[in-house]
Amino acid sequence: MEKTGKYKRILVTSALTYANGDTHLGHIAGSILPADMYVRYCRLAGYDVIYVCGSDEYGTAIEMSAIKEGITPKEIVDKYHEANKLAYEQLGMSFDIYSRTSTDTHKKTAQDFFTNLYDKDLLYEKSEKQLYSEKEQRFLADRFVVGTCPVCGYEVARGDECENCGSTLSPLELKNPRSTITGDTPVVKESTHFYFPLAKYQDELDKWISSKPDWKPNVVNYCKGWFKTGLQDRAITRDLSWGVPLPLEDHEGKVIYVWFEAPIGYISITKELFASKGNEDLWKDYWCSNDTRLVHFLGKDNIIFHAMFFPAMLMAHGGIVLADNVPANEFMNLEGTKQSKSKGHAIYVKDVIGRFNPDSIRYAIASNMPENKDTDFYWSDLQAKNNNELGAILGNFVNRTFVFAEKYFEGRVPPLGELHEIDKNLLESVKSYPSRIASYYENYKFKDAVSESMNLVREANKYFNDTEPWKAVKEDKERCGTIINICLQLCRTFAVIFDPILPFSSEKLLRMLALPDEKLTWQGACDLKLEAGHTLGKPEILFKKIEDTEIEK
Ligand SMILES: [Zn+2]
Repeated sequence: MEKTGKYKRILVTSALTYANGDTHLGHIAGSILPADMYVRYCRLAGYDVIYVCGSDEYGTAIEMSAIKEGITPKEIVDKYHEANKLAYEQLGMSFDIYSRTSTDTHKKTAQDFFTNLYDKDLLYEKSEKQLYSEKEQRFLADRFVVGTCPVCGYEVARGDECENCGSTLSPLELKNPRSTITGDTPVVKESTHFYFPLAKYQDELDKWISSKPDWKPNVVNYCKGWFKTGLQDRAITRDLSWGVPLPLEDHEGKVIYVWFEAPIGYISITKELFASKGNEDLWKDYWCSNDTRLVHFLGKDNIIFHAMFFPAMLMAHGGIVLADNVPANEFMNLEGTKQSKSKGHAIYVKDVIGRFNPDSIRYAIASNMPENKDTDFYWSDLQAKNNNELGAILGNFVNRTFVFAEKYFEGRVPPLGELHEIDKNLLESVKSYPSRIASYYENYKFKDAVSESMNLVREANKYFNDTEPWKAVKEDKERCGTIINICLQLCRTFAVIFDPILPFSSEKLLRMLALPDEKLTWQGACDLKLEAGHTLGKPEILFKKIEDTEIEK
């Protein structure tokens, strides 16, 4: 908590999900789950924190999918926006708002942003040659063109790259170019685009990133690599119909390029959040103030946008807070190969959510999070984590405790008698966990937070074994009561400590403890809040065993 001293509030974003397909576990591991864990921890620790995310809904890929499927882009984004929103909900993601970029609020916010830079003469126009389809009466963005690769001769190379030899291409380099929609041959025509002077901001960006000693090395090194090559000015408009139109006359058919407009979505979605609460101007407290800690969670493929392009845009605009940190994750691959929506090689949330406990999925991902290098998701690993850790350690402790309380103490909390040395040592040791785990969360070390949380349960299990309540119940029932009282208090501690990782189980634990409305705080995690005589709720199974047959499917 000490680290947040100079900040009054925290604003957390997860990379917007591109709304042309279902969300998969790669997204969850990269940008969604770490943010949700961080935010859940921050709320318990008492910070003023908001968490915004949503669907990224414009761009060529969506327009092209729509044309191919014979439906409108709006139909595509409506479908995937709702589907992904539901998938995240089912995995317990606790956004304050999950909205989208096709709203009027976003359109206006993005246009105002553009106008701000335009009015300050920061943008410049440049004319360039582009392929134009006479038949469709429009310019063809790179993904709308195929042709023969000039490098290897592959006949259906895409306008942006050849999938056969991997060369980066521009549509004009293709031999025998064709429109992917109509198949006709386009002509070359001039088109004028606005450019953002990114090169001008390189020094300022470099200085800014160099002032961030706590950023992850993978992020800093990535940026420094780009600085070495030299940043290039970038076009911020495109000839497309599906996008935010330019707020200028005489520029029909041009929209703001999605790389420029999408991150502004974080701002417009925050505006929506507060408008829905009846306080339209409150978004400014978060975005237009230097005592906000802005944290962007994302996968490594998004570093360039969040650590360079977006900050440069904000520097140009002025008056908006820059990120305090960009804790990007590497990729979580699937049994050895990268998860990819376009290649269909991925585990989609919708396919696993009905089959497995959402907390088990969260735990398997969190304990193997690709924080510093790529990791792999294995089905056998999900099974092992569920059975050998969640079930055998956490579930087992909770189950044993509740069985004792039910069987020997009529389902009530027994009184806490005189404490033995072993009790005092345990309680003392338990007290040291919350601040240690907190410091992992505050430093974006999610794997460490998970393993330390589980260590706490291991210690609790050892206490249970060492105190042998099954013997005590026969020899000294009062002593047994003290042990079970302590174990029940620990179950309440787990409900707090595991809320960021296992929110559904945490709720279940509170139900079992008959404390459903308990206001939990991180600082009060180890308080002995359960009073003697308190009637407990019904015991439930926290984690069902995952059988081999379920994994084979
Ligand atoms: Zn090629």
